[in-house]
Amino acid sequence: MPVAWLNAVSGSDIDTAGGKGASLGELRGAGLPVPSAFIVTADTYRTFIDEAGITKELFEAVDVDSEDSTALASAEQHARELIMNTEWPDSVRETILDAYADFGDDPFVAVRSSATAEDLPDASFAGQQETFLNVDREALLDQIKRCWGSLFTQRAIYYRDEQGFDHENVDIAVVVQRMVDADKSGVMFTSHPSTGDSEIVVEGAWGLGEAVVSGSVSPDNYIIDKESGEIEDVTVTTKKIKCVRDAATGETVEKAVETEQRDERVLDEDELDELRKVGRLVEDHYGDPQDVEWAIADGDVYMLQSRPITTIDESTNGAASTDGDSDGELLVSGLGASPGTVSGRVRSVGKLDHLDAVTDGDIIVAEMTTPDMVPAMKRASAIVTDEGGMTSHAAIISRELGVPAVIGTESATATLADDQYVTVDGDKGTVVDGAATEAELSNGQSPAGETGDPGSSGETTASDTGRVPKPMTATEVKVNVSIPEAAERAAASGADGVGLLRIEHMVLSLGKTPEKYIADHGDRAFRQEIIDGIRTVAEEFYPRPVRARTLDAPSDEFRQLAGGEDEPTEHNPMLGYRGIRRSLDKPAAFELQLEAVRRLHEMGYDNVELMFPLVTDAEDVLRAKSHMQNVGIDPDKRRWGVMIETPASALSIEEIADAGVDFVSFGTNDLTQYTLAVDRNNSNVADRYDELHPAVRTLMTDVIETCRANDVDTSICGQAASKPAMVQALVNAGITSLSPNVDAVRDVQQEVKRVEQKLLVDTIR
Ligand code: PEP
Ligand code: MG
Repeated sequence: MPVAWLNAVSGSDIDTAGGKGASLGELRGAGLPVPSAFIVTADTYRTFIDEAGITKELFEAVDVDSEDSTALASAEQHARELIMNTEWPDSVRETILDAYADFGDDPFVAVRSSATAEDLPDASFAGQQETFLNVDREALLDQIKRCWGSLFTQRAIYYRDEQGFDHENVDIAVVVQRMVDADKSGVMFTSHPSTGDSEIVVEGAWGLGEAVVSGSVSPDNYIIDKESGEIEDVTVTTKKIKCVRDAATGETVEKAVETEQRDERVLDEDELDELRKVGRLVEDHYGDPQDVEWAIADGDVYMLQSRPITTIDESTNGAASTDGDSDGELLVSGLGASPGTVSGRVRSVGKLDHLDAVTDGDIIVAEMTTPDMVPAMKRASAIVTDEGGMTSHAAIISRELGVPAVIGTESATATLADDQYVTVDGDKGTVVDGAATEAELSNGQSPAGETGDPGSSGETTASDTGRVPKPMTATEVKVNVSIPEAAERAAASGADGVGLLRIEHMVLSLGKTPEKYIADHGDRAFRQEIIDGIRTVAEEFYPRPVRARTLDAPSDEFRQLAGGEDEPTEHNPMLGYRGIRRSLDKPAAFELQLEAVRRLHEMGYDNVELMFPLVTDAEDVLRAKSHMQNVGIDPDKRRWGVMIETPASALSIEEIADAGVDFVSFGTNDLTQYTLAVDRNNSNVADRYDELHPAVRTLMTDVIETCRANDVDTSICGQAASKPAMVQALVNAGITSLSPNVDAVRDVQQEVKRVEQKLLVDTIR
């Protein structure tokens, strides 16, 4: 069956219709008004390559060593050209064009790849295959072939090779769906997004949905009782623009709304009732409240997309933290490094032992965590350490994993006994004897993934509805990532990309210094470790940018690893052999990191940007740049930049901008320690450690001013990016982006929005 109409497809037809096609068919079958579509089935792709006689050549072409980037690039080219240049067998072409003709009026269609996801363990990867919008009859057949060809991008070939999947066993279907020429459109929440009440909230504006979803127009807002259909509240806004499809090109363009329509109510009672019915059906179908994109064309209601509502539970950010068990005795206290309150049994672990003894829900108690503890940290319900500050390994990793943590208690390992039942409050930084009440736990607990995926919703009128969607901000809010295991949670935060990917955690988890690892396993294995670690994050965020920072661990951290005996003994490692200094001095390991990034670019991860840590001046930057060129990365074509975390680099910003960087990012953890001469890990002077000190802020605002004049983007990825006062100062100064830790992303988004709104109001007053 070369094509199948949606009504003939159900959720179990992934083999023939692919994941996307099957789920659209399922919705259609449930009675939902999905725009009509047919699926060019996976069998058709097979028939095409078989009947055209290219099967053998195609699979031979992609049977290459995927580590060999030249071979991989030519495999992609060969395979895609083969598909594009092969004539359609008459029967297949006729069937597809006949199906298209059944739409009746030669409409514009969307042509979407729909991979048979079962063949690929990671469905998100399958989703990376291509989609083409606004396709007309003439372009249809070519775009279907392009979807097929997207099975053979370098990324796809590499990925299947890595996962041990046979290229011949992977199929692809293509969905050809009518594009709806909406007169009005918007979004609908099938339950109240902030209260969960049985109310349907609808937002609507004129024209295509892009204007509402992108936030460029304030839509009307309607609240309807889900059961009775009674309209409880109507807010009609002024809608100055709308998006429409250009009749000739099919492109979406913005147009002014006719004067008499601007203040007109968009949806009448009948339409609202129709939407309410769709809302109830879709919520029943999925069993959870949904955020639905809808459109109305010629009086017919369509459902374009549906996803679960992802609204923040404000309490997860510590707003409602408790005293743990108020009756319990305070055992130890320290820094509340990762929010949430949990109760569990203590499991004491040494540097390398007892890790297996940590079972699900245990509370890890350790002097300090190390990179090899990450698997155990993932099983733990909380982490308590003797040592460490807010930027220590334990703090960074527990925040990324969403595990509550109290660190720097000085005495936890001595005070807390194995199997003792305790309550950890990661907001207050306390550990008390006994269990917390259930209410206390649910208030404070902040398990991984609880914030869901808010990245999908554009902002509309949050204040009208009381919901808290991802705010649209001009200043980007990214997120820091240190371990690939945290990538999924970080991506789900709705961040605009990764502002800092610290690769040293990947290297430290190898258990050997880079030099020792290379000596034992070879260049290629080291490079592969870096490729794998960055790729996990780049894949999760694609196409959002990911700034991978080259190695920046100080020598005392490397000393704990195999090969550490060869590390220099340094009086003050923070002022010593780390960051770009070490890299320029040991170019072999440095260039392997750069080669890893080049390989990722070649594989299609064009979202990976390079960033160099701890530069002193433009000379450091130019030397790093020449190493990029040595390995074949063109600094004019790929985005790259440096951290500004020494006063010298801040004062050399003009020359650093001239060196050709695309961006700089403030490492305030270091910039503060070097400007104030306060060791960031020294508790004796911790009270003097102040990222908001006027000296630090002046360096930063001066850098921002110079960068703006030189067209260089600015960012902050130090811990201070989550401090409201810092956010205010930097947004006011015109910073391009901020990159806090994952637990702070939502608060920073809200703070940025507040500051930007105030800036706007101030300019019109
Ligand atoms: C910083 O110095 O602020 C920074 C982000 O880098 P790190 O904490 O890894 O030194
Ligand atoms: Mg730093």
